[in-house]
Amino acid sequence: MALIVHKYGGTSMGSTERIKNVAKRVAKWHDAGHQIVVVPSAMSGETNRIIGLAKEIMAQPDPRELDMIASTGEQVSVGLLSMALQAIGKQAVSYAGWQVPIKTDSAYTKARIESIDDAKVKADLAAGKIVVITGFQGVDEQGNITTLGRGGSDTSAVAIAAALKAQECLIYTDVDGVYTTDPRVVSDARRLNTVTFEEMLEMASLGSKVLQIRSVEFAGNYRMPTRVLSSLTDPLMPLEEEANSGTLISFEEDTNMEQATITGIAFSRDEAKITVLGVPDKPGIAYQILGPVADANIEVDMIIQNQSVEGKTDFTFTVPRGEYAKAMAVLEGSVKAHIGAASIAGDTKVSKVSVVGVGMRSHVGIASQMFRTLSEEGINILMISTSEIKISVLIDEKYMELAVRSLHKAFGLESA
Ligand code: ADP
Ligand code: ASP
Ligand code: MG
Repeated sequence: MALIVHKYGGTSMGSTERIKNVAKRVAKWHDAGHQIVVVPSAMSGETNRIIGLAKEIMAQPDPRELDMIASTGEQVSVGLLSMALQAIGKQAVSYAGWQVPIKTDSAYTKARIESIDDAKVKADLAAGKIVVITGFQGVDEQGNITTLGRGGSDTSAVAIAAALKAQECLIYTDVDGVYTTDPRVVSDARRLNTVTFEEMLEMASLGSKVLQIRSVEFAGNYRMPTRVLSSLTDPLMPLEEEANSGTLISFEEDTNMEQATITGIAFSRDEAKITVLGVPDKPGIAYQILGPVADANIEVDMIIQNQSVEGKTDFTFTVPRGEYAKAMAVLEGSVKAHIGAASIAGDTKVSKVSVVGVGMRSHVGIASQMFRTLSEEGINILMISTSEIKISVLIDEKYMELAVRSLHKAFGLESA
C-alpha cells in the first residue's frame, strides 16, 4: 500500500462525463489498496472565463479580488469529483486550500506555498477516505485566498505529495507524456520515457506549459518521483500498465537511456522586449533600470547592453508579455528621467524559442547548428541567451512555429 497523489488538469475535468471517468480511475487505484489524494484543476475554460468577467469590469483588476474569484473554478471541481466518487461507492471528502490549510505568501496571482498542514488529510486517509483538494489556491497569513499562477495546480499537487511524503505524484493531462516539443505544434514530436529533472526544469521555465515550473522545483527539492501521463485512456486499463506509462522525471542523469545531444525544443509566445535608448554608459545603470522593474515584482529574462557610442548605450531586456504595460509604466514613470535616457521602445510581438539538453555539456556546435537552421529559414535573431544546457533566441512571433518545426527536424528529434 502506498500514498499516491493524482492531479487532473482542466481538460481531464472538462465535463461531468470526464469527471466520472476520473472517479473510476481514482477508485481503481484505491481498490488496489493505495491511499489516494486527488488534486483537480478547474474545468477547462473556467479560469479564463472568470478572469474575463473581471476584465469586463476593469482593465487591471485588484489582484486580491482576482484571486478571490479565479480560485472558485477549483472549488467546483473538488465538490463534483468528490460526489462522483461517492456515487460509485467510495468515501470521499473535498477541501479548499484554506481548509487544509495550504499556506502561501501574499503575492496575489503568483503566490508561493510556504507550508501545508497534513493532519486533517492524514486522518481522512487513515479512515479510508479519498481526499480531494483544490489545485491552484492557498491562503495567506491574514486569511486571504491566494492563487499560485496559471497552471498552478501542478504545483499544488507536487507540494501536497511532498508534504504527505507520498510515494509518487501522477500528473494526468490531455497528452500522454512530455514530448520533444509541444505535440500540438509539431505533429511528429516524440514522447520521452524519462526526462532529467534539470531538463524538465529548463523546458518548463522556457515555456513548455505541460508542467508549471514551480511544480518541477518542488519535485527537485523534495526528490518527489513525478510522472506525466494521459487522463484520456480507458480509466479501467490495467493499473500496472498505467503506472508505467507516460514520462517519468528522473533524478539521475545517466539512467536516461535516450540521452541525445538535444532533448527538446521549448517556446514561449508570451514575451515582450523593451529597449531603453540613449542611456549614459556608466556604473550602476543596469541596476537603475532593472532595480525598479524587479521592485514591481516583474521578472526580467534576457538582457543585452549594446556597445556604447560617445558615452551612450542602448539597454534591452525581455519581460512576460502580461507584465509589459506595468514595466513600461515603471520606466516611463521615474526611471527614464532619473537616468537621463533618450527614449524607450517596446515590442510585444516577439517569441522565444529554446533548444534544451544535458548532452550540450559534452557536445560543441549546437549553437552554430541552431543559428544555421534559423538563417536557412530566413529568421532573424533579435536576442540570444545561453546556459550550460540550453540556448534561447528571441525572434519575431510570426516565425515561431516555423522555427520550432525546423529546429525539431534539424536536431533529429522526430519520432522514427
Ligand atoms: P492541464 O490542463 O492538464 O494542466 P496543460 O494545457 O496545462 O494541461 O498542459 C498540457 C499541454 O501542454 C498539452 O496539451 C500540450 O499542448 C502542451 N505542451 C507544451 N509543451 C509540451 C511538451 N514538450 N510535451 C507535452 N505537452 C506539451
Ligand atoms: N485553473 C488554473 C489555470 O487555468 C490552474 C490550473 O489549471 O493548473 O491556470
Ligand atoms: Mg496545466
